[in-house]
Amino acid sequence: MADINLSRITKSFGDYRAVNQVSLDIADGEFVALLGPSGCGKTTLLRLLAGFEEPDGGVISLGGQAVADPANRVMVNPEARNLGIVFQSYALWPHMSVARNVGYPLEVRGLGRAERDARIAKALATVALEPYADRNPTELSGGQRQRVALARCLVMEPRAVLLDEPLANLDVHLRETMQQAFLDFHRRTGATMIYVTHDQAEAMAMADRIAVMDRGRIRQMAAPETLYREPADHMVAGFVGAGAVLPIDDVAIHDAGRCSVRLGDAAIQARICQKVASNSDMRNGRDLGLCLRPEDIWVDDAGTLRGSVEDCVYLGGRFRLMVRLDGDQILPVYATKRARIGEAVGLVISDGWVFDRTEDEAA
Ligand code: ATP
Repeated sequence: MADINLSRITKSFGDYRAVNQVSLDIADGEFVALLGPSGCGKTTLLRLLAGFEEPDGGVISLGGQAVADPANRVMVNPEARNLGIVFQSYALWPHMSVARNVGYPLEVRGLGRAERDARIAKALATVALEPYADRNPTELSGGQRQRVALARCLVMEPRAVLLDEPLANLDVHLRETMQQAFLDFHRRTGATMIYVTHDQAEAMAMADRIAVMDRGRIRQMAAPETLYREPADHMVAGFVGAGAVLPIDDVAIHDAGRCSVRLGDAAIQARICQKVASNSDMRNGRDLGLCLRPEDIWVDDAGTLRGSVEDCVYLGGRFRLMVRLDGDQILPVYATKRARIGEAVGLVISDGWVFDRTEDEAA
């Protein structure tokens, strides 16, 4: 079993707390992305899991067994954890053939030639690189090199695969192809995968669940569509997906889950997070935010929400307008037609998400 559990993991470097009370439960076979801005602690969390760093506090368990638990002096070394790791730099040996690179970890462990060859062939087949076995890494593209690195990690039959920004060095077209290759690999093998990235589109395209990190903490862990439609806080709302987050101070809550928000002259029907259950919550000092996504906003002359076009960019198939509202807030809007800069437009908003910003301030 490759269930992975982290309970209140903390790690500091000097005075700086890189990972702060992180708890995570990852199920066997799950594909989880760790997403967050540079320096938020993603790589440190991966290194703690792999056993390259020891936590200051908390417990890490693999398959129900503690592998790091400083309070009980447990620290299992990286080899014994049997986790495969793929880094951004492929770390291949240039003077060795692809097959030898892949088989090297088996050579180090003293496996016989026949078993090595069988496992190398299987790992190369998994990443569709059998025809390249005798080439040198220098004769391969970046994407092929990354697949060799993945095969080298698979040859050890790890219980889970940890990937640290594996596509960061590839150009945009190759990244998409490789995303598909990782997804195909995940579907075929059912391996547990933990994928570090700062690219939200990459995380959304690949992961079953995404843990959004910020300053050493996990702000929200959820399926990509939940993060996008129901962000837990200001940071997640802004970091995941396009859109705008507006402060609001006039909300009427209709019933559990729905409310009406006043924006300029328009009343917007929106969904509301469960924490804000009643109108009196607002009077109790909750600070609310309204998250709007561009696909829920339409240019429509009949719209009571008025603004002027600040910017218009062709995205291929549609335009993205930036519309400044009379109240000075700026909304991104998709449109089928080009708009003139300065043009006055009406907007209709079909959906929004109201969340509690109070905890944001505390974080
Ligand atoms: P990036 O996306 O830029 O790689 P990250 O989210 O992976 O960032 P980490 O590499 O985990 O971030 O680093 C988190 C913080 O801890 C950073 O401020 C970093 O400078 C600090 N840090 C990481 N490793 C060490 C170390 N060995 N010694 C001192 N500080 C460290």
